[in-house]
Amino acid sequence: MDFQHTNDSVTRRIQAFTERLTYLRSNDLYYYNQPVQEILPGMKVRVNGREMGMYASYSYLGLVNHPRINAAAKAAVDKFGTGTHGVRTLAGTLTIHSELEETIASFKHSEAAITYSSGYATNLTVVSTLMGRGDYVFSDKLNHASIVDGCLMSGAEFRRFKHNDMEHLETLLKNAPSDAAKLVIADSVFSMDGDIIDLPTMVALCKKHNAWLMIDEAHSVGVLGKTGTGIEEHFDLYGQIDIKMGTLSKTIPSVGGYVAASREIIDYFRHASRAYIFSAALPPAQAAAANESFKVILDEPWRLERLNENTKQFIGGLKALGFDTLFTETAIVPVLCREDDLAFAMTRECQHNDVFVLPVVSPAVGEGLARLRATVTAAHDPSEIERALDVIGEAGKKLGIVK
Ligand SMILES: *Cc1c(COP(=O)(O)O)cnc(C)c1O
Repeated sequence: MDFQHTNDSVTRRIQAFTERLTYLRSNDLYYYNQPVQEILPGMKVRVNGREMGMYASYSYLGLVNHPRINAAAKAAVDKFGTGTHGVRTLAGTLTIHSELEETIASFKHSEAAITYSSGYATNLTVVSTLMGRGDYVFSDKLNHASIVDGCLMSGAEFRRFKHNDMEHLETLLKNAPSDAAKLVIADSVFSMDGDIIDLPTMVALCKKHNAWLMIDEAHSVGVLGKTGTGIEEHFDLYGQIDIKMGTLSKTIPSVGGYVAASREIIDYFRHASRAYIFSAALPPAQAAAANESFKVILDEPWRLERLNENTKQFIGGLKALGFDTLFTETAIVPVLCREDDLAFAMTRECQHNDVFVLPVVSPAVGEGLARLRATVTAAHDPSEIERALDVIGEAGKKLGIVK
């Protein structure tokens, strides 16, 4: 390119980034978008030609490559092809979409459900369809970026309460005009910390202050509750959440997002949410895969039992080694390193010993809270987890994170 931009703020921002990336790449500390070459049985992956234990997977129940799910996807391709005819409202709704939405509604103990092309798009469109100028949204400080973006896009007054702090939430609710429409929104399981939202208190506060309640179940479906249906089952609070949002890209090995709610609310979204009206539906294979996955979760309860055992072993092992894992109670396990470069170095040590973990640094988490964000799944073998703990422990000692 001949044209050179002048040294404006955009140029400087890009330059600063380029310098940081060059430094990380030249010091073997760059772990962004690492390509996985192959998915192997037993939660293993091939990366850089080496077989590694996978501790960065969202496939909590180990459903990726499940024969029944793969077969459903292949059958859908044979029946419908690989794409739709465009947006849902014109010619893009297939029977498999309606089936999937019925399956989700039933799995989530709701009257109805609607799907979108991603979880990110779901949060954007749902929050901004529901809320507008003059309304109030109350969002946990650690909520997923897609929720934050949805709140900002809505144009509503945006209030953030301290993480899982119900007293602070109540103060903010009290300070809003009593006649304003209010929406309280939070992750069920927090994606970087693995802790669970205090749903019982939140439900009570929403009732008291006449607020709508929306919960993002990206990390609770297949994980929380006795049968894995999510946070309402976990707290035995069925029917208390107005809008249950989720993704089809984590426990469910597909892609897409959904909302489960009352028939009225879902009908409203089907006619008013722009990501539904102006964007194509899920490809048939992905819709069929998702549909089959919800059934597999209920048919194979041993997966959730294994997940719970493995989670206990992994968190207990890390704590015994002296690591700070914050308040996690789930398969998402933060291994605190504090400084960005320590998190990168931990990643390097672990990967050199064939344990695939990834670092999370600011701005994804607060300054000084850099970490490995490790996950454990139903597909890990306890002896493999033991080996991973040894590797993480050795790395932590070498880098002075634990004694
Ligand atoms: C991953 C995630 C999303 C986005 O889902 P996609 O389907 O990947 O777009 C939304 N919310 C939370 C809490 C997530 O972890």
